[in-house]
Amino acid sequence: MSDSQTLYAADYLITQNDARDIIEQAALVVQGNRIVSVGHRDLLEVMFPDAAQVQLGKAVIMPGLINAHTHVSMSLLRGYSDDKTLMDWLQQDIFPQEAKLSPELVELGARFSMAEMLRTGTTAFFDMYMHERSVFRAADEMGLRGVLGENITQYFPTVSCRDEEAYAELVRSLADEWRNHPRLRQAVLPHAPYTTNPALLRRCRELATETGALFGMHLAETKSETAACLKEHGLRPVPYCESLGLLQADSVFFHCVEVDAHDITILAEHRCCAVHNPASNMKLASGVAPVEAMLRNRVPVALGTDGPASNNAQNMLREMYVAALLHKVDALNPTACPAQLVLDMATRHGSEVLHDPLIGTLEPGMKADFIALSLEEPHMQPVHNIVSNVVYAATGMENKLTVVDGRELYREGRFLCCDYEALCAEMRQAQAWARR
Ligand SMILES: [Zn+2]
Repeated sequence: MSDSQTLYAADYLITQNDARDIIEQAALVVQGNRIVSVGHRDLLEVMFPDAAQVQLGKAVIMPGLINAHTHVSMSLLRGYSDDKTLMDWLQQDIFPQEAKLSPELVELGARFSMAEMLRTGTTAFFDMYMHERSVFRAADEMGLRGVLGENITQYFPTVSCRDEEAYAELVRSLADEWRNHPRLRQAVLPHAPYTTNPALLRRCRELATETGALFGMHLAETKSETAACLKEHGLRPVPYCESLGLLQADSVFFHCVEVDAHDITILAEHRCCAVHNPASNMKLASGVAPVEAMLRNRVPVALGTDGPASNNAQNMLREMYVAALLHKVDALNPTACPAQLVLDMATRHGSEVLHDPLIGTLEPGMKADFIALSLEEPHMQPVHNIVSNVVYAATGMENKLTVVDGRELYREGRFLCCDYEALCAEMRQAQAWARR
């Protein structure tokens, strides 16, 4: 670990620790990739006289946001198809485009989304797509933290695997290439119950265990998925997964819109996590996940944007706002999903889904993943309750600093980990690909 220390000071700091302490006139000291101290600025300036200082002024330092479910490379298809049902959207527009994807395009889409995430305060993400080696490469180079995995369906040959054996080989080789990486970890990710079969799902489960990867899948996203699962397998999606032995403590399920009380009990018994994607669920009119019921029953629920083609942003501040409002109108109860709960979903619960206990809070010993939102814009003033400003007023564009693993990746309009202008030029060129 490097000996040099940096002290970041700001008017407010949201720790997200167990007591949910908020510190005014605060500072955070970083050494190497870890936080060594969090406290009052005056005190820490005395305790760490040799630390380089970054005075952020009227700003709030807070944990980097964790996007627990996305498909980053789908930035290529942002705005390509909107206002359709999930099945029409997938089958008419998305799947045909994805069949033409190359590793180079996947990498470009990934880099573009990573720039958006860094700009809007996300430091870690859980990604699922094809040609995922390209996403590993992009995340490694750009400096974000993530759990990444190749998505698989039963419709071989897929865009990246000619058959099941090729998928197994890919998972094993990614495991070898990225084992012990300080920021990146692999997951085995079958697409959904309706695009796989029991044998493939069991194989995926075995591969996850064999390679030490996490396991995840889209699950219980729509009523039609539940109806199809009942018709084909005689079980609702969650008991179907239980019957195949898929539910283990390393398993995470994306969406979980269509889960009833019994399904929630099963997820809790097996210590599985869920990820809520409110904007995507609203846009595709999939429904409203019973987030508070899952949390009450000890199923950790994190927050995700889903891909940029069904959201259409990779902006977790916007996602928190949507989540907080959706559950109030759904329950006709303004006390549903309060601001602090939503912030917990985007930080602490994200750490559970990524199985990284050293992210999600700002405390000594934790990894130095944090952001700083400016409080100088009109919509961020006054500050009666800083968590309220973050969840209900912030847009993402007030973020002025994104640090991952102790490294500044974005600061005040400048991307320090990529040539943003070149990236934009490449994206403009890639637009022609979607029209072919
Ligand atoms: Zn998804």
